[in-house]
Amino acid sequence: MAAESPLLESKRQVEYFELPARSILNRTKPGMPFGWAINPYRGCEFGCKYCYARYTHEFMEMKDGRDFEEKIYAKAHTAELLRRELYKVRREDFVAIGTATDPYQPAERRFEKTRAILEVFAAQRGRRPSLITKSDLILRDLPLLAEIKRGNILHVNMTITTLDTELARALEPRAPRPDLRLAAVARLAEAGISVGVFSNPILPLITDSEESLDCLAAAAAKAGASYFGGGLLFLMPSAQKVFFPFLDEKFPHLAKRYRERFEKNAYLRGPYQEMIRDRVRNIRARHGLASSPANYQPELWAGGEQLELFPVS
Ligand code: SF4
Repeated sequence: MAAESPLLESKRQVEYFELPARSILNRTKPGMPFGWAINPYRGCEFGCKYCYARYTHEFMEMKDGRDFEEKIYAKAHTAELLRRELYKVRREDFVAIGTATDPYQPAERRFEKTRAILEVFAAQRGRRPSLITKSDLILRDLPLLAEIKRGNILHVNMTITTLDTELARALEPRAPRPDLRLAAVARLAEAGISVGVFSNPILPLITDSEESLDCLAAAAAKAGASYFGGGLLFLMPSAQKVFFPFLDEKFPHLAKRYRERFEKNAYLRGPYQEMIRDRVRNIRARHGLASSPANYQPELWAGGEQLELFPVS
């Protein structure tokens, strides 16, 4: 279907296409914290060097890692598809928006696919949507988010890998600066939106230090985030193709070690994983942050029944 997509616009080296989609809701694998995922776009202009989602372009027979950030597909008829498919989602199911693309990447300014999805949720009661983003463009939709949270349980997960602007620019070349993301966290929190910060992915020997994670958690807490977390980098072959050359250029002293570890296994396990898990847990405790979103009873919950709250750790 992607090969037949009409070209919407060509700008600098980024091209935008419309992707005819049959479905907008994807069932996630068991064990995930959300039962459904919605990705309004395929590809992501932010171009994070570690991005695991590059495989989604490989599904479309685009094997050059750069295609993922230069050929952006906006899904057609997102709102209509969601309205038609929402019956599949049980009230207790969480729906995450932006698991394999950023829903507030630059394309969203023009094509408003995420906004169309949020408008569907704003008319719902008793749903559990969440957004994952690195962009302060989310503030454009603040009134809509406020409306959603009146009748649904809404959480916003802001990803901030580091507070170091230069490092962030190298790792996430076209994503908004960390300070802009923190400012967005503050505005969301002020508006009463449940918001957390995730330092995903934590990069060994680059962003994993106690100091780096602690500063980030402190800034998140100060901005009004209520929860904080971070998971370790995993690198599938599609991500390795971009990340290893990046290391060769920017962190040559680490390139060999990364290759040795990730060429055998895309995931990091063992004592290092446990050490980082403990580090994040201790930092969270130090700054009074939870590991997951806090419960709340929306003002207009479906049917007025008592909400069955989910546990907070
Ligand atoms: S913002 Fe997310 S989806 Fe976009 S390139 Fe970065 S990691 Fe990938």
